[in-house]
Amino acid sequence: MIVLVINCGSSSLKYDIIDMDTHETLADGLADRVAINQGAGAILKHRPTGKPDYTAEVPMPDHADAIKYVLEALTHPEHGVIDSLQQITAVGHRVVHGGENFTKSALMTTDVLDAIEDCIKFGPLHNPGNLQGIRACARSLPNVPQVAVFDTEFHQSMPQKAYLYGLPYEYYTDLGVRRYGFHGTSHRYVTLKATEWLEQEKGIPVEDQRVITCHLGNGCSMAAVKGGKCVDTSMGLTPLEGLLMGTRSGDLDPAILPFLQKELNLGSEDTDRVLNKNSGLLGISGVSSDMRDVKAAAFAEPPNPRAVAALEVFCYRITKYIGSYAAVLGGVDAVVFTAGIGENEPLVRSVTTEGLAFMGLEVDLDKNEHMEKGAEVTDISTDASPVAVLVIPTNEELMIATDTLEIVEGNGLG
Ligand code: ADP
Repeated sequence: MIVLVINCGSSSLKYDIIDMDTHETLADGLADRVAINQGAGAILKHRPTGKPDYTAEVPMPDHADAIKYVLEALTHPEHGVIDSLQQITAVGHRVVHGGENFTKSALMTTDVLDAIEDCIKFGPLHNPGNLQGIRACARSLPNVPQVAVFDTEFHQSMPQKAYLYGLPYEYYTDLGVRRYGFHGTSHRYVTLKATEWLEQEKGIPVEDQRVITCHLGNGCSMAAVKGGKCVDTSMGLTPLEGLLMGTRSGDLDPAILPFLQKELNLGSEDTDRVLNKNSGLLGISGVSSDMRDVKAAAFAEPPNPRAVAALEVFCYRITKYIGSYAAVLGGVDAVVFTAGIGENEPLVRSVTTEGLAFMGLEVDLDKNEHMEKGAEVTDISTDASPVAVLVIPTNEELMIATDTLEIVEGNGLG
């Protein structure tokens, strides 16, 4: 069984094609600069496993062109990985915002498409691109079932006390203003891995497990997970709330917005840009949104004080959330680090967990620095630490493909 996974944005289309019998990625790639400048300057980067990479500059005025070139690359005699499109059992799409409509992934129907369209108001930067990818695939692969996997679905188990904001209640009932949370596919994937590990290594049954997951990439979010179900998460109505991120501010006093609008004469779009694009690691450090650059500047001689501050704020906020989620969960069995920074940056893992020995959480600095490459789960806590500190490489594509296959087979379409 072969599943094609599509993550389509407004100007890019990422893809992975996975053999679900072996969980092996046959190829992945990216169609970039799609639908910009009438498609001039668009580029396809195709990476077939075990074969040389293939890159082509081809015009892609819209997403249908992108899909066409991706499918051509997948079946190409030299750099292709399948003989024919008939080998694709199903397509799984990452969809960022599913609102309250989806507690799990869904087989694509016109109702599902309408519901995704309805959520554009909450995910204006992502849902339109997701929809374009879905429609383009439906046209190019008309007989292949398609499934939507939502970033928000894992967090739908949150209780009302965690998702309601302290605003007039009608804003929730009439406008849908509440915490939804994002990166759900990643939080769900690492939760499943942590769950298996805690059962096997610590003998803790799933229903008793208390896990805090930290997805630290360009976007950063955390989740409190009890008995395998999300009970709270740091992102909110949009992916702006919570932790400090590459270019996003995360939590702030809401009164800062009218203050800035007045002082700097900013309109609502300007404010949006400041919070989403000019803040976070980039905004504080003035150096970069990339953790590697910020760290290099913070440890340069002489150190860049703004980069030091950015690193400190980034880590401090994670520690604060670990503490509050431990309280929410009534204790913690494992803290999980994942995504670009979580998987690769030992400094962030050690600084954020420093001083948490009072709650039974201690990182072994040697294990933290010298992790084995390629392991599914690595415990970097000391032997004496009752709380495990796990580094688990995320695999959102495999999670999407797994859901897709389950749903397609469940509907007798596999
Ligand atoms: P996205 O959210 O776009 O999927 P990633 O999960 O790839 O992002 O994370 C991107 C972040 O991970 C960047 O801030 C980058 O600095 C950081 N990162 C990636 N590799 C490393 C590394 N080897 N060491 C430290 N940070 C890294």
